[in-house]
Amino acid sequence: MTTSANHVNARKTHCKNGHEFTPENTYVSHTRGPPMRQCRQCRKDRWAANYKRVVRLAPLDAGALRRLRRAAADGVSHDDLSERFGVTTKTIRDAIRASGP
Ligand SMILES: [Zn+2]
Repeated sequence: MTTSANHVNARKTHCKNGHEFTPENTYVSHTRGPPMRQCRQCRKDRWAANYKRVVRLAPLDAGALRRLRRAAADGVSHDDLSERFGVTTKTIRDAIRASGP
């Protein structure tokens, strides 16, 4: 057994989510206190998660989203959809683009 847990921690090569700390994937945060290594992939993932949440919280519930996508698939224009669902065409585009598998 080793007692050098701190030592190991300072030299860890992966973030807590298992992304490797390569030079490309690492940025150093200088906000307050000692510089801290941060994982770019985690930051990207966080943004993506936030973005999805925002889209989901848009003024369209799941049912409206389904109807919207079906209408879009039927060839209804974004302008018409915008009017029909009372949201901007940007929201329409985002909602359609956010439709994952
Ligand atoms: Zn990470």
